[in-house]
Amino acid sequence: MRAESARRKRKIIVVTFGGGARDQETFAPQGQENIPNMMKELIPQSSFFTHVTNQGILGHYVATASLTTGTYETLNNFSAVPPDHPTVFEYFRKDLHRPPTDAWVVAPSNGFNRIGESNCSSYGQGLGAAVILPKHLLAAASSGSKANIDHLLRDNYENPLYTPQLSGNEFQLSQLERVLRLSVDDFTAHARTLSSPDELSLYIARRLMEQEAPGLLWITMHDIDIAHSGAYSLYMDGIRRTDRLCYELWQAVQQNPEYAGNTTMFILPDFGRDSDYDSGGNGFQHHRTGDIASRTTWMMALGVGIRPGMIYDDPIQSVDLVPSLGAILGFDAVQSSGKPIKELL
Ligand SMILES: [Zn+2]
Repeated sequence: MRAESARRKRKIIVVTFGGGARDQETFAPQGQENIPNMMKELIPQSSFFTHVTNQGILGHYVATASLTTGTYETLNNFSAVPPDHPTVFEYFRKDLHRPPTDAWVVAPSNGFNRIGESNCSSYGQGLGAAVILPKHLLAAASSGSKANIDHLLRDNYENPLYTPQLSGNEFQLSQLERVLRLSVDDFTAHARTLSSPDELSLYIARRLMEQEAPGLLWITMHDIDIAHSGAYSLYMDGIRRTDRLCYELWQAVQQNPEYAGNTTMFILPDFGRDSDYDSGGNGFQHHRTGDIASRTTWMMALGVGIRPGMIYDDPIQSVDLVPSLGAILGFDAVQSSGKPIKELL
């Protein structure tokens, strides 16, 4: 009975350290200076997996969708379509009988608005996560005003022409007040104090934790993908900011009574970026070659049920995350092609 009650209180937060960060600028020895918060504060508490392979398509939406389904999805990255296989949100809600308020996604751009729910007929419709698109929300909240927020609204670094019109399960402006309990004025005023879209996402995520305390919260970071501009310094700024935001989120977990002592958090890049030495690519700028640097990345797990201070070098795959969450929470990711990571069980 006590075990059952602990399981009901259990919270899972997944953060993608995205979009696209190489080992050599993060956890490889020469990169560690770029992630001081994770190195100093989080790694000692973590189980760290040094060899995570992504064998799927290296576009941010399709790769993040693959992370959520535990299957390498093949959907068109530049198309606002749902994943073909059930998402972790659907397994979680259907198998564990969880209400709609218990699973949320905070996502970086309009292209991610269908990520919360698949089109799989035995799951899908009404069983997924609500998706918040903070930039979309901010654009709606500030429409017509000269709010000086252009730096927060850039939607997509890889294909600036792609900004799909939204339909379906999108977060409506009315929910700003109803769910997040933020007035439009307070929201836009606070947004003006933030430096990047990922800071805006973290602000929304913290608000969600305070108001809804979802059992499953998925946050997709994306500032790092500014590397497509070709400016290494901006790519570095993105990594340093993401490092800081991950630590701030973990601090927010400790300060929130619903989350403190109940939460397991996973941090992983969606994938890497091209090697400096692959003649088919242009180094850190893109992720087009499918080389080892762009496919090999890492994962950090910390919090309840995690062995601290462990480093695991055995190869795992990014699709192993969802079946691992299933093993932890008690649902069966039946359509995932991955398998539970034994070191997490
Ligand atoms: Zn990219």
